[in-house]
Amino acid sequence: MKILLNVVVWIVLVDQSCCNADLEDTAQRLRTLLEDHFSDIRHSEANPENKENAFNFIKATLEEYEYDVQTMAFSGTRNENSYEGTNIIAVLQGNTNPAEDEVVLLGAHYDTVATTPGVDDNGSGMAVLLDSARMLQYEMCKPINTIVLVAFDLEEAGLFGSHHFANDWLPGFLQTKTALTEL
Ligand SMILES: [Zn+2]
Repeated sequence: MKILLNVVVWIVLVDQSCCNADLEDTAQRLRTLLEDHFSDIRHSEANPENKENAFNFIKATLEEYEYDVQTMAFSGTRNENSYEGTNIIAVLQGNTNPAEDEVVLLGAHYDTVATTPGVDDNGSGMAVLLDSARMLQYEMCKPINTIVLVAFDLEEAGLFGSHHFANDWLPGFLQTKTALTEL
């Protein structure tokens, strides 16, 4: 389901008359991203080094694509186990007035379970997210609506990254947009 959703999102994003995407080039880029960066276990305890490498690569790639990248550290406890993670967030401002801006969220998670390399879950999503970030910046018309790109951490541990994003980051962001609308 997640893979299907990723593919659908990608098709919607690239199916624009002003998009110069060459599908063969895109497929090759996605394959390279998967093979080089999202084909090993990325779990906080099983392989923290790989997860940190993925974090650094995602952040550096979004910065290379000229996004203003934010990192969002979060922590908590569940079932007496404590956890610490970091989401990576990039915002592409839309081209409309704030009152009409319908913010689009594009997300994937970069952590994996402890026992698999997570190529499908969710390396495929991360590859699509990063190549979408590149295309949105360089190969497409300026989007009408604001697009928020998020690489979630600790999803496999219990949806922690998206939970903290939705509760701790998103309300403030939407409030700022509402404040702009009311100016
Ligand atoms: Zn997953």
